[in-house]
Amino acid sequence: MSAPVATDALVIGAGPVGLFQAFQLGLQDIRCHIVDSLPHPGGQCTELYGDKPIYDIPGLPRCTGKELIERLQTQVKPFAPVFHGGHSVSRLVPQGDGFAVQTAQGLHVQARSVAIAAGVGAFEPRQLPAAGFKPLRGSQVFFAGHDPSVFAGQACLVVGGDGTAIQAALQLCDLSGPNAPTRVGLMHRRDVWDAEPALIERMRQWVREGRLQLHIGQLLEPRLQDQRMQAVDWVSSAGETHTLPCEAIWVQLGLSPQLGPLSEWGLAMQRKQLVVDSASFATSVPGIFAVGDVNTYPGKQKLILCGFHEATLAAFAIAARLRPGERTSLQYTTTSTHLHRLLGVDGR
Ligand SMILES: Cc1cc2nc3c(=O)[nH]c(=O)nc-3n(C[C@H](O)[C@H](O)[C@H](O)COP(=O)(O)OP(=O)(O)OC[C@H]3O[C@@H](n4cnc5c(N)ncnc54)[C@H](O)[C@@H]3O)c2cc1C
Repeated sequence: MSAPVATDALVIGAGPVGLFQAFQLGLQDIRCHIVDSLPHPGGQCTELYGDKPIYDIPGLPRCTGKELIERLQTQVKPFAPVFHGGHSVSRLVPQGDGFAVQTAQGLHVQARSVAIAAGVGAFEPRQLPAAGFKPLRGSQVFFAGHDPSVFAGQACLVVGGDGTAIQAALQLCDLSGPNAPTRVGLMHRRDVWDAEPALIERMRQWVREGRLQLHIGQLLEPRLQDQRMQAVDWVSSAGETHTLPCEAIWVQLGLSPQLGPLSEWGLAMQRKQLVVDSASFATSVPGIFAVGDVNTYPGKQKLILCGFHEATLAAFAIAARLRPGERTSLQYTTTSTHLHRLLGVDGR
């Protein structure tokens, strides 16, 4: 466990709304830390539709999910929020005049206020369905983003059917010398691929050349010897069962959002969403606010624009809580020299 980080505000989730929350907190002269289970900011915008255009962001007639996130990151830069990527918040309990927050990866934050912008949940890699693979995670079963050097000298299998899975398999085939796996297989449940035609053709070419083995079917269970996987049983799409030598699996099944521990933090919920007061976006626990897709209130719409509005009002409410007795007045970024100073601009 690392030494606790102390902050006035912690934002849980670095999707579009979490990023804009950090910007609005900055305008209130409140510095914040942001945590996200993903290694990078973006939430649904980058994970689910990074290259697709969005048409309903005010003043931005057309931009892709990735572009929107890049613009939000640029906008928040003057306030330099501290980003902790790859951290899933697992515990949030009241402590002192704020909250003790812990991540499953060992980060400990003491925050005077918390804004939950957790969207539809923490993005986690999709797991192999068979229970037998669970104890092998981290030793013989790896997920996207892992360093491919762990597959050196192993009989490997990549599981997945999209461009990322194909690229991972080709990347392993391309390793040479001491980093090279002894064999590389690619398994997908159907011979239908969600990837660019040129990439699919390259994969098929490498299969024809014998560099890559293609298996159309699904994994059943691992075959263990002394608790180490030596092979896997799998069933083909025709229903035939086979055994394949396999010492390491690279799971490339994409990400799925998991609401996870949020439901255990003692906050009022309705249909898996946090109930908030739509004047301040306060949850049922004073000091904890919820913005974006994670919250619910009468008239709620899961739109980025609505999340931006919520983050703005939540920032005013957080400022009022952190500075009791002080008036939190509305100021315009066009005319306020105070806001210009915070933004580091001269306003001309
Ligand atoms: C295909 C598709 C198209 C869409 N198109 C549009 C559109 O055109 N216009 C529009 O307005 N909206 C659109 N939306 C909806 C829009 O993407 C969401 O409203 C928006 O992403 C919500 O932002 P958010 O920041 O609240 O949550 P998210 O984008 O879901 O981000 C939440 C972040 O919180 C993190 N997180 C969650 N739990 C934890 C935890 N415990 N610890 C650490 N991190 C955690 C997650 O990893 C994630 O990165 C679309 C959605 C989809 C799926």
